Amino acid sequence: MPEKTNLTGLLPDELESFLADHGEKPFRGRQLFQWLYQKKAESFDEMTNLSKSLRQKLGQIAEIGHLKCINRQSSQETIATKYLFQLKDGYHIESVYIYEQDRHTLCISSQAGCALNCSFCATGRLGFQRNLSAGEIVDQVIQVERDLQRELTNIVFMGMGEPLNNYNNAIKAATLINHNEGLAVGARRIVISTAGIVPAIYRFTKEEQRYRLAISLNAAIQAKREQIMPISKRFPLAELAEAMKTYSRKMRELVTIEYVLIRGFNDQNEDIAALKQLLKGMRCKLNIIPYNETAGKYRRPAAGEVDRFYQKAKDIGVPMYIRWSKGDDVDAACGQLAVKKSPSTIHKKQV
Ligand code: SAH
Repeated sequence: MPEKTNLTGLLPDELESFLADHGEKPFRGRQLFQWLYQKKAESFDEMTNLSKSLRQKLGQIAEIGHLKCINRQSSQETIATKYLFQLKDGYHIESVYIYEQDRHTLCISSQAGCALNCSFCATGRLGFQRNLSAGEIVDQVIQVERDLQRELTNIVFMGMGEPLNNYNNAIKAATLINHNEGLAVGARRIVISTAGIVPAIYRFTKEEQRYRLAISLNAAIQAKREQIMPISKRFPLAELAEAMKTYSRKMRELVTIEYVLIRGFNDQNEDIAALKQLLKGMRCKLNIIPYNETAGKYRRPAAGEVDRFYQKAKDIGVPMYIRWSKGDDVDAACGQLAVKKSPSTIHKKQV
């Protein structure tokens, strides 16, 4: 029997062609789209405005998403929940739900593992497994909305992987997440974060993508950045800064800059001076993320040290925020996603 087509990950016009190819009325594609993304149907039986014969036929030729949620851990200190999903071929990925006031954010993965090997990030230590399909990316959102029985307000591509190294699928997933007949998350509430894949930033700019762009800068001195982010050898800071400026000029947008603050490494006066130089003439905001400790050698600065860095960095003259990331008691914070096979014991729920 031919393999069933997975409908999760298809746009309305692709669903229309799929139906047309099977001798069905194309307009049913829109209904199917709404069932998949808006109503988050888990089976064709639920799709009551489709005829019974069409539902049966779909059951034979098509399927709906197939991420399997195999674990869910909720953080006790903060409102963060980490979901562990298994892909069809056995790889694992994680997504993290973070709840703050009226913001319900899901941090999603774009690849299984990651090829960039940033020395401070736990995902990097896994190595690269494979790109996720658009369907596997968007299915994380569908599954979590189903589980929470609520809609997410913000989506950030800050889980495992480098979204701009899986450009087509990541952008397609963002389009599906944004589509107003589907999950309907506003484009400005979808953040694509990159370690700095320069040609892809130009492509993103040229295509005038409306999703927000965040850059994981983490160091403003080339030699230091190379030490922690090998990708910086390929795309040096000067080229990255030029790409960021082009983006912000053309799109009239602020670039969000993520700066993971590592004790005794990138928290020195020389780092602030280099940041000031690099960000000159760039419309941006700076998010300072105190490092979340993982198995490596790097340490998180104490709260007082973070504050001192912040006070001195005011001199740079860009809007700045300190982001203590959520969920580190369940290894769900930035840089801690590494898929432990037997997750730690904190408040574990099987689903
Ligand atoms: N590859 C993309 C998407 C991953 S985002 C990117 O690099 O932007 C993951 C974010 O978490 C990045 O901003 C990264 O710098 C940050 N991060 C990684 N490890 C971290 C850690 N241990 N503590 C705090 N932030 C970390």
